[in-house]
Amino acid sequence: MADIRIGLWLDQPDSHFLDEILAMPGGEAAAACIQCGTCSGACPTVRFMDSSPREIMAFVRAGYRDRVLNSNTIWMCASCYSCYVRCPKEIKITDFMYKLKQIAMREGYKNPDAKRARILSKEFADNVKSLGRNNEMWLLLKYFLSTGIFSALKYTGMGLSLLRTGRLEIFPKKSKSVSDVRKIIAKSREEAAMRP
Ligand code: SF4
Ligand code: SF4
Repeated sequence: MADIRIGLWLDQPDSHFLDEILAMPGGEAAAACIQCGTCSGACPTVRFMDSSPREIMAFVRAGYRDRVLNSNTIWMCASCYSCYVRCPKEIKITDFMYKLKQIAMREGYKNPDAKRARILSKEFADNVKSLGRNNEMWLLLKYFLSTGIFSALKYTGMGLSLLRTGRLEIFPKKSKSVSDVRKIIAKSREEAAMRP
């Protein structure tokens, strides 16, 4: 929390940032955010983000351009649409993450966590392909095996608390629709390969 406060104190709000977002197709929805946190609660990769999706929406509205575009959140987003389908204000948060990535790339901001973002994205996709859904326990385990024991130690307390509260499933359950999910993944990879 301390780093967020320091970051806000150092950032200079940019009054044009929100205007720029509001002017983008679908961007006007940013003004409707009620900061309920449903998006953050639904996000499977929120634990790897330096600011939650709810915080990103708040920073956008407050005009904290640098804070948003320097954040690893926009790169750690796995485009799963879980927030998108749950937002009570029907804000297309996944599209927002794409738009923010586009602005960051256009303006030369670097992904502060490029290697870990690639690993997280691959492990998330493998997880969904094998189970037909995400399993947080396996995502955490596979991510830590790929990124090293020191990154795992940082999250030990959080892992134990999630286990205690029953929010981590030790034994992964396959979705009944796993074969449909695999077909969707195969099709989207086929289409991505055909793109120029
Ligand atoms: S779920 Fe929607 S309304 Fe709630 S904080 Fe997230 S973006 Fe805002
Ligand atoms: S689309 Fe991105 S921000 Fe939204 S829940 Fe999925 S990973 Fe999180």
